[in-house]
Amino acid sequence: MIITGDNIISQPGKPNNEIVVNLHMHTAYSDGSGSHDQIADAAIETGLDAVIITDHNVLVTGKEGYREKNGRKVLVLIGQEIHDQARKPQKNHMLVFGAEKDLAPLASSTQQLINQVRAAGGLSFIAHPYDPALPTFNEDDISWVDWSVSGYTGIELWNAFSELKMVVHNKLEGLFFALFPQLIAHGPAQQVLAIWDDLLKQGRKIVAIGGSDAHALPMSLGPIHRTIFPYAFHFQTVNTHILLPQGLTGNIDTDKKMIYTALSNGHAFVGYDLPQSTRGFRFTAQTKEQHGVMGDTLSLDGGSVTFQISLPVPCECKLVHAGGDTIICKGNNQNFTHITSVPGAYRVECRVDYLGKQRGWIFSNPIYIS
Ligand SMILES: [Zn+2]
Ligand SMILES: [Zn+2]
Repeated sequence: MIITGDNIISQPGKPNNEIVVNLHMHTAYSDGSGSHDQIADAAIETGLDAVIITDHNVLVTGKEGYREKNGRKVLVLIGQEIHDQARKPQKNHMLVFGAEKDLAPLASSTQQLINQVRAAGGLSFIAHPYDPALPTFNEDDISWVDWSVSGYTGIELWNAFSELKMVVHNKLEGLFFALFPQLIAHGPAQQVLAIWDDLLKQGRKIVAIGGSDAHALPMSLGPIHRTIFPYAFHFQTVNTHILLPQGLTGNIDTDKKMIYTALSNGHAFVGYDLPQSTRGFRFTAQTKEQHGVMGDTLSLDGGSVTFQISLPVPCECKLVHAGGDTIICKGNNQNFTHITSVPGAYRVECRVDYLGKQRGWIFSNPIYIS
């Protein structure tokens, strides 16, 4: 049943302070072209609240903190993207946040890496789970293949940079999308959505994040030199929106802890902010006694649960029950309500028309009904 109307979405004590974070990106410490300062400037310019920089197999120290410019500030956090460099091709990339030590030497065993990240109090996310080969540009398939692992925090549902490998088939198309990067994004790969729903159907709690994988690559074509996909472009596209129990305080330790705790709880959604800002999206659930946001678990206790979806602008959306029926929320409404007594993981998916195509816009983390 779908009923629409004005619903109360916020609840006292529940995380409702939204921050916009761009995560998964590279500097010149690995295969990116820019510096931490350039990233901070681009983040301030584009209105982000925080960035998490993740160079390959190196934990860069001394770069975390608040950066300020023109009266605006951004929190710069440092993580790592770890993979086994001895393995060819280089499968199984993992994003690590908050472990506070270099765990790259453990990369040869993905399960051991996950275990040690957890033991260090960190978060681990499977990066670009589906990342096909692109022979024209000598790019290998670097998908995740060790699906027998367990204990990781979640997956990078949408990787803005690896999506390029799915839309480009030859050099001409490569040039075209370098000039018109706003035409690249369509949404998370269907393969990744299917893997995620399958894991959720098994009863596992898997947090979804969206990463830019920004590199700010230099390109030369005859006399023309330019940076393709600059950081500032990426920061306006696929972001992870995180719900905090209170606003950022300006204290690095407090805020970092708050952000990583919210991420590990799945209090977040993935938003493609280029067509239209996704700020303000909310997905909540209520039973007689409990109230939950994205990432929370509520128990039915023989009763029913009421889901509420609130969109930044009127739009159609889908309430996806992993392994069950998908409920289409029809009509150009801004609020949707759905009542059910069927347990499982429920997530919201919205698409919008942008530049002549329907494109992914909002992908919520699930609310788990036990
Ligand atoms: Zn990677
Ligand atoms: Zn990367």
